[in-house]
Amino acid sequence: MPIKLLPPRLANQIAAGEVVERPASVVKELVENSLDAGATRIELDIEKGGHKRIRLRDNGSGIAKDELELALSRHATSKIATLDDLEQILSLGFRGEALASISSVSRLSLTSKPNSQEQAWQANCEGRDMAVTLQPAAHPDGTTIDVVDIFYNTPARRKFLRTEKTEYQHIEEVIKRIALSRPDVAFVLRHNGKMTKRFNAVGQDQLAMRVGQVCGQSFLQQALHTRCDYDGITLEAWLGDASQMRSSNDCQYSFVNGRGMRDKLILHALRQAYESVLASAEQPAFVVYLTIDPREVDVNVHPAKHEVRFQQSRLVHDFICKAVCDALVSTEEYQSSLSGV
Ligand code: ADP
Ligand code: MG
Repeated sequence: MPIKLLPPRLANQIAAGEVVERPASVVKELVENSLDAGATRIELDIEKGGHKRIRLRDNGSGIAKDELELALSRHATSKIATLDDLEQILSLGFRGEALASISSVSRLSLTSKPNSQEQAWQANCEGRDMAVTLQPAAHPDGTTIDVVDIFYNTPARRKFLRTEKTEYQHIEEVIKRIALSRPDVAFVLRHNGKMTKRFNAVGQDQLAMRVGQVCGQSFLQQALHTRCDYDGITLEAWLGDASQMRSSNDCQYSFVNGRGMRDKLILHALRQAYESVLASAEQPAFVVYLTIDPREVDVNVHPAKHEVRFQQSRLVHDFICKAVCDALVSTEEYQSSLSGV
């Protein structure tokens, strides 16, 4: 075959393979965009586990009419301009791929109104060239993104969708994780018209309240709270003790500079600490926040940004492990298990 440039929709669908795995990945990208836009309230309406519809509304900065088309194009972002910016990234997004990818595998409409604009506008994106059409709309300040019929045009992907219930659970998990990173933002989640989660906004300094909202009051009351610093790294954590061990890893949350992570190094350090102190085969429950100089971490390792690379990985690993060990060792249960021997 001769070499040809791929038509835009096809190129975006290929890129979508990396970012848009399932409805929950759409939710993650959309919510991160709202947070980057300074939203303080995010509402999500999910239909049929996201198979049918994912609709997000936020009260963020909005997108100006003449930027709607760009927002939907690939490699278009308002968040970085130079390689230098990438070195110390503070926003959640930066690849400029999410909206283009999602709209290539669904029927997407984007409605937005920045505060400075009188009228809201809605953008739809159609055909193999993903041509954008604009029409006036009624909308308060902020943005609504409506994603309907995900994977309708990519049957191979659609086949991998699980049941509504499973997909919904993944969505809920994404919201819980993000909610733990932003106690100052209100989240409302509805599934098939019924409210399923509601996290009211609390102050940035009231992280404990959000931990209780998301992980339950009983976890909050029994967890050990610890905070320590070492060489510019800060760890703040709520650590479930021996009474909080679970059969699954459903309450393991870790964050690096406010970004939810499922990073191997962090999980390894935590597991090692728990194993050495509690010697249990069960899964611990924890919520761990690390704060570190952004220049010391590379978040551009994985398109979905689940993993990070630490410049001083050994040091970070050992710091987490020691901080968690010290906290666990101080518990009464541990002390009494020693004296019982
Ligand atoms: P990225 O987040 O990597 O920049 P996206 O494709 O997710 O790329 O979004 C493209 C651009 O659209 C963003 O850079 C931002 O300027 C704009 N945008 C997307 N969602 C929102 C939103 N909810 N509110 C305001 N602007 C948004
Ligand atoms: Mg984004």
